[in-house]
Amino acid sequence: MDFYQGKVLRVDLSAGSAAVEPLDMDWAQLYMGGKGLLFRYMWEYVPTGVDPWAPENPLFLVTGPFAGTNLSTASRLVVGAKSPTTGILDDSYVGGSFAPEMKFAGYDIIIVTGKAPAPTVVRIEDDKVELLPAAKYWGMKTSQIEAALKADLDPDAKVLSIGPAGENKVPWACLSTDQFHKAGRGGHGALFGAKNLKAIAVRGTGAVKVGDAKAFLADMYRMHEEFVLTDANLWANEEGTPILVDPVDGAGVFPTRNFSSGSFEGVGTINSEAFQRIKTRNRACYQCAIGCRQVHSIAGVTGEGPEYETIALCGGNCGVGDIEALMKFNHACDEWGLDTISSGNVVGLAMDMTEKGIKDFGLHFGEVEGYVEAPQLIATRVGIGAELALGARALAAKYGCPDLAFEVKNLEIPGYDPRGSFGMSIGYATSDRGGCHMRTYPVADEVVEGTRPPDSLEGKAEQIIVGNVDNGFIGQNFSSIKFSGIWCDFWAVNPEQLCRAFRHVWKREFTEDEIMLMGERIWNLGRLFNLREGVEPDSLPKRMYLPEGAFTEGPSAGRVIGEQAFKDGLQEYYRLRGWDENGVPTEAKLAAVGVDVRL
Ligand code: SF4
Repeated sequence: MDFYQGKVLRVDLSAGSAAVEPLDMDWAQLYMGGKGLLFRYMWEYVPTGVDPWAPENPLFLVTGPFAGTNLSTASRLVVGAKSPTTGILDDSYVGGSFAPEMKFAGYDIIIVTGKAPAPTVVRIEDDKVELLPAAKYWGMKTSQIEAALKADLDPDAKVLSIGPAGENKVPWACLSTDQFHKAGRGGHGALFGAKNLKAIAVRGTGAVKVGDAKAFLADMYRMHEEFVLTDANLWANEEGTPILVDPVDGAGVFPTRNFSSGSFEGVGTINSEAFQRIKTRNRACYQCAIGCRQVHSIAGVTGEGPEYETIALCGGNCGVGDIEALMKFNHACDEWGLDTISSGNVVGLAMDMTEKGIKDFGLHFGEVEGYVEAPQLIATRVGIGAELALGARALAAKYGCPDLAFEVKNLEIPGYDPRGSFGMSIGYATSDRGGCHMRTYPVADEVVEGTRPPDSLEGKAEQIIVGNVDNGFIGQNFSSIKFSGIWCDFWAVNPEQLCRAFRHVWKREFTEDEIMLMGERIWNLGRLFNLREGVEPDSLPKRMYLPEGAFTEGPSAGRVIGEQAFKDGLQEYYRLRGWDENGVPTEAKLAAVGVDVRL
């Protein structure tokens, strides 16, 4: 079998056993890999209505067909499960070297079920799978567990692990690999903790077959020259995502002081220019020619990042323009095992509640005292951390201020305020995993390129579905197939390039229409899964579309989406999707896009 290894490893932590089964190649043909294959396996193996915290809720590690090959940016891993945070699907992506090592060990997918009776590390060495006692590792931060496992087991092992936040089941605990690479969103780290699973260490000595290697390598090198090492991508190497800070702030879209403004007066000390001054080098994921990972160092803190989202949520949204404090906060999240988007969102909320006299958490916008310690307190659920670890929705509800929580389906909203980029309102509301900017990115049209008006929803529903691949505006259908590849966002790949790569996998030509249809199939399958699991209605925090929430300052001051326009936008989206007025895919649509399951 070329590109795929043809094997799924199932690990049952309750029984202490492991078994191998063949990869379902019919599903691979329909859904490709990564996101698509994850959704198909989730449909089949997640018990309907399962409590996400229950041992029966499986956790999936899924690779794409190109993981372990030399194709740049396509050796990523998707981690998936019914999320304990949102109660619906969550697919979270991570780079580094774990996915290729999984393939070298012989597996396309690993499915973990059950709950170990005591802290456990799963060790995989090709065909050998062991469950090792992990009491001595419990409590370690992410850098410590990774170093300890490399020292104790194999210096070449690739480790996917949790920090104390995962052990304490904080809803936005992340998974960590290669120290700085995180599967951040949706609480997969908390699921590891609920399963008493501290880490998975994998070592493989095999290879990934690519069929006609000469043809694949020749074409791959041409693709690198034509499409990868270009100006469209190399900004990522030179500056990385901090490059977005100034334009997003300049457009009034930058979350500031718990989303009370769209521009931050302290942005000049945490923008790309500021981070360039403390940049020490670049790092790269496995076989990636772009190498976007920016390593920064200041005041004894060295690490990768922060990425744009972290700067927005942990910087502007907390009113913090102190680059040293921001680096420390980011580093603490990395070490204790927390997603930075949710961390910054929740800490900003706690600051807002403190300043409004609702509840004194001792945290104030712009003050670094208390702010830098917050990740540790959240991860250990100590002091104010015990309440902050509830997450934005539950914390605000507890103190009677639900309108101060900025989340969608209980996933905290990331770094683009829809009041300055209206398309994001429908994008967030219809995202398959809750508040997420990675499924569609109207910001590219409305802010970065300025090709569409940011203060109108006209025509946006269609764009959200299909995108505008010419300028990096990723639509939901295209992102679904791209994340099934699994490509990283920093290769601005388009359907033509996907066709060219996929033809090596399946030994036949692909058309762009076929690629987009596959993406639509995957999106509809995800919707069916969420409906099966009781997804709440698509919505957005009211302050983001009602007149009373309009900004009073900055470039997007006074802009109001309006309740009716938002509702109309959602209905337009459902209509274009071929879903009914409640957002349920019609039989005709499911048949047309080839989804092979039904509610
Ligand atoms: S572009 Fe960056 S994040 Fe993407 S694969 Fe390369 S190094 Fe990793």
